[in-house]
Amino acid sequence: MHEAAPVNPWVAFAYLVAGVCFILALRGLSSPATSRRGNRLGMVGMGIAVLTTIFTHLPVIDLSPGDPTVPIYDRATTDWATLGEILAAIAIGAAIGLTTAKRIAMTAMPQLVAAFHSLVGLAAVLVGVAAYLNPDAFGISSLVVPMIGQPFAVINPVSKVEMGLGVAIGAITFSGSVIAFLKLNGSMSGKPILLPGRHVINLGVLAAILLLVAQFAHTQDTWPFWAIVILSFAIGFLLIIPIGGADMPVVVSMLNSYSGWAAAAMGFTLGNTAMIVTGALVGSSGAILSYIMCRAMNRSFISVIAGGFGATDSGGAAGGGAIDRPWKRGSAEDAAFLMQQAEQVIIVPGYGMAVAQAQHALREMGDKLKEHGVRVKYAIHPVAGRMPGHMNVLLAEANVPYDDVFELEDINSEFAQTDVAFVIGANDVTNPAAKTDKTSPIYGMPVLDVEKAKTVLFIKRSMGGVGYAGVDNEVFYRDNTMMLLADAKKMVEEIVKAMD
Ligand code: NDP
Repeated sequence: MHEAAPVNPWVAFAYLVAGVCFILALRGLSSPATSRRGNRLGMVGMGIAVLTTIFTHLPVIDLSPGDPTVPIYDRATTDWATLGEILAAIAIGAAIGLTTAKRIAMTAMPQLVAAFHSLVGLAAVLVGVAAYLNPDAFGISSLVVPMIGQPFAVINPVSKVEMGLGVAIGAITFSGSVIAFLKLNGSMSGKPILLPGRHVINLGVLAAILLLVAQFAHTQDTWPFWAIVILSFAIGFLLIIPIGGADMPVVVSMLNSYSGWAAAAMGFTLGNTAMIVTGALVGSSGAILSYIMCRAMNRSFISVIAGGFGATDSGGAAGGGAIDRPWKRGSAEDAAFLMQQAEQVIIVPGYGMAVAQAQHALREMGDKLKEHGVRVKYAIHPVAGRMPGHMNVLLAEANVPYDDVFELEDINSEFAQTDVAFVIGANDVTNPAAKTDKTSPIYGMPVLDVEKAKTVLFIKRSMGGVGYAGVDNEVFYRDNTMMLLADAKKMVEEIVKAMD
């Protein structure tokens, strides 16, 4: 049996430093003001972890295989060719990551994150498969020499449980993330796909996976191992297809959490402390974020992780385009006049602002209004845009003062005393159907009460366009609403001009 190598104190120290960097990175990422520092600390931590792993696992060539008379340090020499292959693989991966990150539009971030999660899941499955096929290389087996027949490797029972759970979580993360990617990318309908009896099927498959892990740990047979992999791929798919529309943000953070647990499980198989720590941090922070988002969306945590538990068959029936009802159209001049006369304007940004990259023009408009003595506030819905914190990031990029930015629960009561609600590219997060229409896919989600303001100015490009959940918004047709139909950036620039 392979003896577990004593941990070099310097390696343990380096992993500890990396772990502290990751914790400080998470702390930094909790506010837009410190997020850059958080990101840098995360990069430093990851750099330390990767370098330490490479230097402590340098590939070696055994010059006198199996000769116990030669001390190990005289027998082994560094395998430069393999090291070169490892470094080349890292360079290729880094180049792909760097190019993708530079090219990706901010609005496509959720699908990119889902794609990256799928890779973490796949990596966990591949490590599990490699460890199963060659346990000796991972130091997780003992050689049994029977009286008759060939010696064979028996994998430690604990390692078999870790491996079974690791490949299961990895495979669920992989197939779930692929479906999330397709839905977020628009390559697959965002509507929930509700199979009859899905809860029974899901629970049955999950129970079968757990039994198979027990069977694998007991027997080390090949069939339960591969059955775990296949069933886990299937359950990842089944858990995500029933989730749709406005619940996708929770799914993204939930898959984030799964990818962390998959990495932690991989860390156990590889005996790598840094991976266990990082995986546990990602897993728990993703779970906390999912919980916070569920609370913000008024959804039950269990119902979302159980795969669209709360969704009803009518829930997916998105209303689609414009209803044939009268509505009022306004111009940039009308908007400029109304806002300059106001005492308070609350700006509600949404996904359309991100698409149009209108945040800088918007800040300029806010500054102009302030010069006129108007109080300007920004109201942020927790799922506005396409990723958690999307609006906060864009407004911070445009140097909107943090003190002007308010979360939903802190500002919602103010709309009733506000002259103008200026909605820029937000739709679902302002839709009152969430409060009144039980058949709506966004029913139950808290929304910004923009319709309570004296006047609502609503920027979007056309009356036909709908938001992410695919439902029409009754606010468009209200007496106190004026539609400003144009690209958000263009319209705000025209409003700023009209103010001059
Ligand atoms: P919505 O997707 O509901 O609405 C976007 C609006 O912007 C539409 O009315 C669209 O209308 C308009 N728009 C699009 N492009 C432009 C443009 N260039 N100029 C002006 N208007 C434009 O956005 P919300 O932010 O209100 O809601 C977010 C939705 O996304 C929620 O349903 C949320 O659940 C979901 N989601 C959120 C995630 C997150 O983590 N935050 C992740 C995944 C999904 P038109 O086409 O007519 O211009």
